[in-house]
Amino acid sequence: MYDVVVIGSGPAGYVAAIRAAQLGLKTVCIEQSSNDDGKPNFGGTCLNVGCIPSKALLDSSHRFYEANKNLSDHGIDIKDMKLDLSAMMKRKDDIVSKLTGGISGLFAANKVDSISGSGKVVGSNLVEVTKSDGSTEELEAKNIIIATGSLPIEIPAGKFGDKIVDSTGALAFNKVPKSLGIVGAGIIGLELGSVWSRLGSKVTVIEALDTFLPMTDPDISKETFKEFKKQGLDIKLNSKLVASKELKNTVKVTFNENGTDVEEEFDKLIVAVGRKPNSSNIIDESLNIAIEEGFIKVDEHCQTSVKNIWAIGDVVRGPMLAHKGSEEGIMVAERIADKHAEVNYDLVPSVIYSHPEIAWVGKNETELKDKKISYKVGKFPFAASGRALAVDQSVGFVKVLSDSKTDTILGVHVFGPAAAEIVQQALISMEFGASAEDIALTMFSHPTVSEAFHEAALAANNQAIHIGNKTR
Ligand SMILES: Cc1cc2nc3c(=O)[nH]c(=O)nc-3n(C[C@H](O)[C@H](O)[C@H](O)COP(=O)(O)OP(=O)(O)OC[C@H]3O[C@@H](n4cnc5c(N)ncnc54)[C@H](O)[C@@H]3O)c2cc1C
Repeated sequence: MYDVVVIGSGPAGYVAAIRAAQLGLKTVCIEQSSNDDGKPNFGGTCLNVGCIPSKALLDSSHRFYEANKNLSDHGIDIKDMKLDLSAMMKRKDDIVSKLTGGISGLFAANKVDSISGSGKVVGSNLVEVTKSDGSTEELEAKNIIIATGSLPIEIPAGKFGDKIVDSTGALAFNKVPKSLGIVGAGIIGLELGSVWSRLGSKVTVIEALDTFLPMTDPDISKETFKEFKKQGLDIKLNSKLVASKELKNTVKVTFNENGTDVEEEFDKLIVAVGRKPNSSNIIDESLNIAIEEGFIKVDEHCQTSVKNIWAIGDVVRGPMLAHKGSEEGIMVAERIADKHAEVNYDLVPSVIYSHPEIAWVGKNETELKDKKISYKVGKFPFAASGRALAVDQSVGFVKVLSDSKTDTILGVHVFGPAAAEIVQQALISMEFGASAEDIALTMFSHPTVSEAFHEAALAANNQAIHIGNKTR
């Protein structure tokens, strides 16, 4: 009998398994994806076809773009530059192999058992594993953690095929498409669009909503829209995919833009309209665990209605982000071991790894207005940051929102260099209940792009040094 059986080895499941084992619980992790040798292929979407390979290609394509377009400004002249896409893809694949293989090592070091196969909860203490040869094995478990993740959404107007692909296909093109259509201007669509645009594709993004990145602060939405357009992404808002057809060499696409049907042909079409929780055929119906719009229903501690069955990561409510799943994994493992643990869902950071990056944490202006919370705004442009100018990344700004009475920081929104790292600094301060004044009284190294956070915090109380105050 295992203390903990984890189903799925993505960033939610593998982290839960390691933490459970560290706490002295006898733990096994079941993973259905396998390597050529039949052993489990750990890491889930994030390591195999998500966060890591996309960031590897974002970095490579950025270097290519910089070398091609921007280095002459620095007095560096590169002649006869060419792209070796297969080498770029190999680098990405090597990073993926290294990290996914690393999980086997972590499991061994922490004494986590693993089984290759597909897991299904068939009783409150029983998991059935179906192996690749069709044979089954039953595992008894005191606790079960479901971490089966999510899958790309397929839409009737854009069925996946050879030239119509999901994000996984878009991370493995073997040549740069001359023209590329992307359905969905969400985080994944924009990151993949950036990769291929930098490598030379003419990218058109078809987005049904009329607002760009509606989940971001309105200033971020406005400024980033302009910047993506400047970078060559033709983003068509209020445009809905109506139909698509794979032809011999292209994909013919019809979309409705502002009420008018438009036809275009692309070499490839990426459908990136979101992901759906992977919850079907995971739990036997006799257990009566509710599934709402595909998400396994859990409470704030990721516990289902059956108290020893838990679910974490993309398969439950909340943002579909690797770090959110990992923190849930740690919380659940600790709660199984009778420890007190919580996830602070108010402070989940979000990042879009474009260039420059976009990152935010806490509330934005729209949310504060909706909640009728009165707030102050401190904003500092990277154009006034010495370091940002020196590293040729002076687009964007840092925006700090703080409570107008208490000065407590309510949200930080960054578009610019190292945005993700700056937001992480903000998040740490917010976990400790910092005010804008606390950040203002903190010393920052000079010259760093983080100084823009310092100045934005100063600006919230009209004390910024390097810009005129009362900017709004
Ligand atoms: C292109 C792309 C880029 C992304 N970039 C980022 C990013 O930069 N930052 C970020 O935070 N998030 C990013 N994400 C999202 C991130 O990948 C997910 O939020 C994260 O992987 C979810 O973790 P998870 O453990 O819940 O599920 P998953 O990572 O999906 O893992 C689930 C695992 O369960 C296995 N499984 C499923 N069913 C069974 C079963 N019945 N039995 C056994 N095993 C099973 C699957 O094979 C898989 O290995 C990105 C996603 C994509 C697609």
